[in-house]
Amino acid sequence: MDPWLLTYDGYDPAQEGLRESLTTLGNGYFATRGAVPEARADGVHYPGTYVAGCYDRLVSRVAGRTVDNEDLVNVPNWLPLTFRAVDTGDDGDGDGDWFAPERTEILTGRRFLDMRAGVLTRLLRVRDPQGRITRVEQRRLVSMDDPHLAALRMTIVPENWSGTLQVRSALDRRVTNSGVARYRGLADRHLVPIRSHASHGVIELLTRTATSRVEIALAARTTLTGGRGQVVSEASEEGWVSDERTVEVATGEEVVVEKVVALYTSRDRAIAECEAAARTAVVRAGSFEALLKRHVRAWDRLWQRAHVPAEDVDVQQILNLYVFHLLQTTSPHLAELDAGLPARGLHGEAYRGHVFWDELFAFPFLAPRFPEVTRALLRYRWRRLPEARWAARVAGHTGAMFPWQSGSDGREETPRLHLNPRSGRWLPDHSHLQRHVGLAIAHNVWQHYLATKDTAFLAGFGGELLVEIARFSASLAVREGDRYAVRGVMGPDEYHDGYPDRAEPGLDNNAYTNVMTAWLMRRVLDTISLVGAEGVSREEIDRFTGMAGRMRVDFHDGVISQFEGYEALRELDWAAYREKYGDIRRLDRILEAEGDTPNRYKASKQADVLMLFHLLGEDGLTEVLTGLGYEWDPAMTARTVDYYLARTCHGSTLSAVVHAGVLARLRPGASHPFLVEALNSDVRDLQGGTTAEGIHLGAMAGAAVLFETS
Ligand code: BGC
Repeated sequence: MDPWLLTYDGYDPAQEGLRESLTTLGNGYFATRGAVPEARADGVHYPGTYVAGCYDRLVSRVAGRTVDNEDLVNVPNWLPLTFRAVDTGDDGDGDGDWFAPERTEILTGRRFLDMRAGVLTRLLRVRDPQGRITRVEQRRLVSMDDPHLAALRMTIVPENWSGTLQVRSALDRRVTNSGVARYRGLADRHLVPIRSHASHGVIELLTRTATSRVEIALAARTTLTGGRGQVVSEASEEGWVSDERTVEVATGEEVVVEKVVALYTSRDRAIAECEAAARTAVVRAGSFEALLKRHVRAWDRLWQRAHVPAEDVDVQQILNLYVFHLLQTTSPHLAELDAGLPARGLHGEAYRGHVFWDELFAFPFLAPRFPEVTRALLRYRWRRLPEARWAARVAGHTGAMFPWQSGSDGREETPRLHLNPRSGRWLPDHSHLQRHVGLAIAHNVWQHYLATKDTAFLAGFGGELLVEIARFSASLAVREGDRYAVRGVMGPDEYHDGYPDRAEPGLDNNAYTNVMTAWLMRRVLDTISLVGAEGVSREEIDRFTGMAGRMRVDFHDGVISQFEGYEALRELDWAAYREKYGDIRRLDRILEAEGDTPNRYKASKQADVLMLFHLLGEDGLTEVLTGLGYEWDPAMTARTVDYYLARTCHGSTLSAVVHAGVLARLRPGASHPFLVEALNSDVRDLQGGTTAEGIHLGAMAGAAVLFETS
């Protein structure tokens, strides 16, 4: 087995979505799912191309309410490229006989992703209803060298026939954001036509997003070599512009078609306007071969900085795949953009391309290797400080309250309703109460600083982020007796969003939030002693110092309580639920469909208390807890880990990563199943169909970190 190749044989409609996600090609600026180039969205295939930071907001009606959602936009599809043999007498107008795997006998069908080179290859041998056998090879790249370019090369060989061959290359605007079944029924048409154009072998499509009014320009240059008597016809109709070529071919003769594509938007820099930029770029771009050479060289440079070696070849293959997808989303090209790290990559539409706390899992990998990228991700947050300050003010707080889900301008994008597909009910979504997202950003600031030792960063925007997040945390906390408490929030475990007997959502004294708040106050004080306290008042420093020493943490049965009152919850009958439902990762949906709620039970979606061990390590956690005046000993670590291990159903891919890491340090033998789960999460789609909607970037990055440190 070659650890650099991911190979898929044959065609399996049920697996197609997963394969498309995992064979996505991208370069940090944009990415395109590995959909076959002749496909349209049809329930099996889902061609999707996403540009980092390109969002659009639409209004929908659901469950009798008006909601608005901001999506990472599925921009026009640049892939369409197909062929057919034309019968004598065929008028060549209908497209019923254009190649489609569903209508053709596939003699050989194989796709492989070369992760070292960033090239997706498809090999086909097909027999049409007339018995004509044709051999086809398609190779595709999304340039890591020039982030605006992509290219497809198709070689066609008629094995047992000669005659007329037609090839069609097109750009397609008729795409929507309909890649996630749960979101169907919500508005999904983000693209407004402007114009399309075809001349001299170049087809062009200009469109804009509906409300954010970002212009998106695509241009494609198609060339065909081989055959005789080439005739070109170009056509432009609503939402579709194409270049068709007809040639006479002899048996065994090779015809090579190259499609070189440029993608620009009106948000790009160093352009006059995007339509001309795309046209100029394809006219000037070299051949597929020339583009490939530079692309491979760029990947080579990335791998020198990013390769994580493993002894086992299967493990190596998965690690290569995960690092590959991480780099495709966060390559150094991202450093030039104003974009965050979407939790599901640029690979699909789950969570609408929003940015969560998941970057926390990527920073340990990226900061030492690509500090220019982690800096850019923090700049994305810093530019949205005014919005976060405003959000804090509206909520009656000071400092900066970052949103749980972030998109274009940094306002809160978490939907207020979500659908339980199991019960068919739309339910209130309180996950925006995860105020710990600011603590994750602060942790990322610190990771970037530790990796770079850049005190100018700390004295500048890094320190500003830390202080503004600390101010918010300080205003969120209330002094109660000799402790600081935080009421009405959610921890990382999204299955608990309130108390069963309380009308208002939110939990009190979530240990993760409170301990990380104490940790943040310590780092702010470190920052002040390193680079000074400009703009921070004496009273604030006193408050930060007070909180570093007096945040409240609850305990029960000799373990840290996930939140105040946790001990009063019921035990779930885990065995009975496993027996009845098999996979109980989505216990929230199961219980809701039964008319129940996880809020009644000691049952967590993912690591919550154990996140503290993951981020701080046992020593770091001991330091913070003893600094808070609590007694802590190693026996309590073991007890706490076992306690939550028995009460977590791992409904997030992040959970296995955290448990694997925590156990690896505490009890190495026990970490193996979690390591295996973390490794397989996307490649085997362990969360049941979710990878088809986009990769889980936090888990991928987390898995890579686990292996580099193990
Ligand atoms: C997890 C969150 C995560 C989000 C995006 C959710 O399922 O519970 O922790 O941030 O997915 O990946």
